[in-house]
Amino acid sequence: MSCEECRAAIRSEGAWNRFDSGRCRYCAARRIQHIKGFKRLPREQISARCTAALADAKAHGWSETEIRALVRGDMAVEPAAKQDVRKNP
Ligand SMILES: [Zn+2]
Repeated sequence: MSCEECRAAIRSEGAWNRFDSGRCRYCAARRIQHIKGFKRLPREQISARCTAALADAKAHGWSETEIRALVRGDMAVEPAAKQDVRKNP
């Protein structure tokens, strides 16, 4: 796993969220998941913020289809790669 923000999100079980990095599609999806959790905001505002975050993700080159699929799943974090396992037995 190369994304430090994703690692921090796993360590804190989702309590840690920092989304100033457009380098990671999982962070981009997690940002939208986080916005969807703003239950005190009116639904139109949540929807507008999600749309803006999705546009931001697309501006960073991520596929809208992929981001939407990640958002529908569990907390979006970068999966551990096989080479990571070999590096840290
Ligand atoms: Zn990430």
